[in-house]
Amino acid sequence: KLYNQVQEAKGNIRVFCRCRPLSKAEVSAGCATIVDFDAAKDGELGILSGGSAKKTFKFDRVYTPKDDQVDVFMDASAMVISVLDGYNVCIFAYGQTGTGKTFTMEGTEQNRGVNYRTLEELFRISKERSETFSYNISVSVLEVYNEQIRDLLAASPTSKKLEIRQASEGFHHVPGIVEAKVETTKEVWSVLQAGSSARAVGSNNVNEHSSRSHCMLCIMVRAKNLMNGECTKSKLWLVDLAGSERLAKTDVQGDRLKEAQNINRSLSALGDVISALATKSSHIPYRNSKLTHLLQDSLGGDSKTLMFVQISPSEQDLSETLSSLNFATRVR
Ligand code: ADP
Ligand code: MG
Repeated sequence: KLYNQVQEAKGNIRVFCRCRPLSKAEVSAGCATIVDFDAAKDGELGILSGGSAKKTFKFDRVYTPKDDQVDVFMDASAMVISVLDGYNVCIFAYGQTGTGKTFTMEGTEQNRGVNYRTLEELFRISKERSETFSYNISVSVLEVYNEQIRDLLAASPTSKKLEIRQASEGFHHVPGIVEAKVETTKEVWSVLQAGSSARAVGSNNVNEHSSRSHCMLCIMVRAKNLMNGECTKSKLWLVDLAGSERLAKTDVQGDRLKEAQNINRSLSALGDVISALATKSSHIPYRNSKLTHLLQDSLGGDSKTLMFVQISPSEQDLSETLSSLNFATRVR
C-alpha cells in the first residue's frame, strides 16, 4: 500500500540499479572495483572514476553484488501483482553484455529470476483471490532481432512476418503468436525453457546472438470479477534487452554493423519514449522501433514501468558503466 503512494507521488517509472560481483577471471586478473556502495541503502551509488573524483547516482534501489534474487524480487513484486488489479506493467533489464540482465530476468535453475518468480507470485495471489476473481494467465515469448519479431514458442520456424496490430479496444497485439495458457509453476518453467532454447536455433553463437536481440516475455492476465461479472485484460512485459555497449567503429562491418545500428536505434527509442513520458510531452514516439511499439500499452498512461540498470563493478568497464547510469538517470 505504501508502495503505491510512493509511486503516485513520483510517477510510474522506477529505476533499480544492480551491480554483479567481480567474475573469477576479473578477480584473478586483479581488477579493481570502481563502485562505492556506502550509501546503497539510500539508493545512492558512487563511481570512482579516476583519482579522487567520485560521481554519485541516485536510484529507487541499489543492489550490491551481495543481494540475491530474493532481495531483488521482493522489491519488484508489488509492481508485478498490480497486473492482477488491471494495470499494464513493464519490467526490463538494461545494460552492457555480461552485467547480469539475463541473470536478473531469467536466472538459473538454482537461482531463478524475475520471470519465474513473477508467475509463481501471480499464481499464489490468484489462488488467494479465487473466491472473488477468476484469472486466466497465458504467456508468449518473442524475440526482436534486427527489427524483426520472432515467436519463440512457435512449433516450427515460420517465414511469415509477424506484425504489430492495434485491436479495436486499443490493445496492441501480434496476430498469430502462440499464447501458452499456464496454470502451474511447473508448466511455466517448461514454457520459459522452451522459449530460451528456441533463441539458440539457427545461430552459431548463442550468447552472442542473445546479446544482440531483445527477449520479451508477455504475460496476459484476463480477470473476471465473480461478484459483478466485470472482465479486464492486462499485460505484463518482462524484457531482457540487447546489450547496450557501443562497438568500436573499426570492429563493425556488414551484418554486425546492421545489428549494432538496430540495437542503438531501439534502445534510443526506448530512452526517448520514457523521457517523453517523464516530461509529459504531447507526442510519445512509440512507433520508432518494434521494441517500443510492442511495449506501448505497458509504457505510459496508468501503466507501471520498472527498469533494472545492470552494471559491472570492474574498472575495465568504467565507460560503459557511466553510459548505462546516465541512460538510467535520463529516464528517471
Ligand atoms: P547479460 O545477460 O547482461 O549479458 P548475464 O546475465 O549472462 O549477463 O551475466 C553474466 C555472468 O555473470 C553470468 O555468468 C551470470 O551468472 C553472472 N552474474 C550476473 N549477475 C550476477 C549476480 N548478481 N550474482 C552472481 N552472478 C551473477
Ligand atoms: Mg544475456
